[in-house]
Amino acid sequence: MSHRRAEEPTPRWLARAELPRLVAALRAHGHRVLGPVVHEGSLRFDDLPASGELPGGWRDEQGPGRYRVSRRAGEEEVFGVVNGAGSIKPFVFAPREPLLQIEMDARAGPGRPFRAEPIRPDAERIALLGVRACDLAALAVQDRIFLRDRFPDPSYAARRGRLFLVAVGCTRAAPTCFCASMDTGPRPHAGFDLALTELGSGGPGGTAGFVARAGSEAGAALLAALALDAAPAEALAGEEAGYQACAAGMQRALPRERLPGLLYDHLEHPRWDEVAERCLSCANCTLVCPTCFCHDVRDEPALDLQGSVRVRQWSSCFDVEHAQVHGLNFRPHIRERYRQWLVHKLASWIDQFGSSGCVGCGRCITWCPVGIDLTEEVAAIAATSPP
Ligand code: SF4
Ligand code: SF4
Repeated sequence: MSHRRAEEPTPRWLARAELPRLVAALRAHGHRVLGPVVHEGSLRFDDLPASGELPGGWRDEQGPGRYRVSRRAGEEEVFGVVNGAGSIKPFVFAPREPLLQIEMDARAGPGRPFRAEPIRPDAERIALLGVRACDLAALAVQDRIFLRDRFPDPSYAARRGRLFLVAVGCTRAAPTCFCASMDTGPRPHAGFDLALTELGSGGPGGTAGFVARAGSEAGAALLAALALDAAPAEALAGEEAGYQACAAGMQRALPRERLPGLLYDHLEHPRWDEVAERCLSCANCTLVCPTCFCHDVRDEPALDLQGSVRVRQWSSCFDVEHAQVHGLNFRPHIRERYRQWLVHKLASWIDQFGSSGCVGCGRCITWCPVGIDLTEEVAAIAATSPP
C-alpha cells in the first residue's frame, strides 16, 4: 500500500478490452487480484479468472429488504452492479481470527506455568479491483479505529499494508445509496492506488472503456507500465456528467448538518418504540456495514486443557450478550439496541473518531430482512423537530 498522492496524475484511457492487461500487470507485481464476482445471487470479491476477464452486463436491483442481480442482454458494462452484501472490510478486519496461542509450560518459570505466543496473519499482497467510493471512505474509518494512537492492531496493520486498491466510481446509484449526502461519493477522492470510471463511450471512435487515474506512487507506476494514452476530452466530460447525474439522482439522504444534535436531543423519542416493533435484532445490518467494528475476544480451551487459543470474532450491538456485564444487561430490549446502533453510528461516533460512522453505502437497508431504513428513521425524528 502506498497512498502518497502521485504528482499531477494525468487521466489515462483504458479501453474495456484492455482490462485484462491491468489484471495481468497487477499479478506481475505479485498481487492476488480479486474483483466483483456474482456468486449465489449476490456480488462478492473473489479471484478473477486466469484470463483476467470480468463478465459484463450484470445489474443489481435493490430496495429495502430486497436484492437481485441479473444479466441484461445487450449490455456490456463490467462494473454495472453497484455493490453486494460483502464490503472490503473482511480483507483487513477478519470475521474470525486467532490472536494468541497459550500453552501450559512448566519450564516457563515459577509462578508462570503458561507460555503465550502472538499469532500474526500471513498477509498476502491483495489487489482489490472495483472498490466503491463509499467503501474507501469506510476503510478510512476502519483505519482510524485500528491504526490510530500508540496501539495499532498488528493483524489489521499487516493486511492493510499489503492492499492495492483499484477504485471504480459510480455513475449509477442503487435506490438504497446515499453517499452524496454523506460526502463520501460517488466519485472516489482519496485512499486508492488507481481509480477507474467506466464509460459506455468516450474513447477513440466512441468506444467503451475507463478513465484511469493514479492516486499513489504505486498506482502511477502501474499506469506508466501500461503505457496508456491520455484520456480524451470527451471521456473526461462524460465522466464528470456521469458523477453529477449519479449524485443528483440519489433517492435517499441523511441530514448530515443536523447530526449529531438531532439524535442526542431525541433519545426518548417514540420512534424508537415503533422501530423496535419491527426490528428482529438479527444483526444483519451490523454484519454488512463496512464501518462496524465491534468484536468479541474469547479464549477457547483445548480439549486436553493444556492450552487455549484467544480468538477475535465480529460481534454486534444487536447481540443480547453485547450489553451483558457482570450478570446485568444494560440493553435488554430491542429499542435500546437499535437506538445504540443508530446513535453511535450517526452521533457519538463523531465525538469518538471525528467522522460519521455511516458512509451512505445503503447495505443495512438492502440487507435488513424487514426493510428498516435508517434514513427513514432519522427523517421521522427530524419531522417532529423542525430545525
Ligand atoms: S450504517 Fe448502513 S448505510 Fe451507513 S455505512 Fe453502515 S451499512 Fe452503509
Ligand atoms: S435493523 Fe434490520 S438488519 Fe438490523 S437488527 Fe433490526 S431487523 Fe436485523
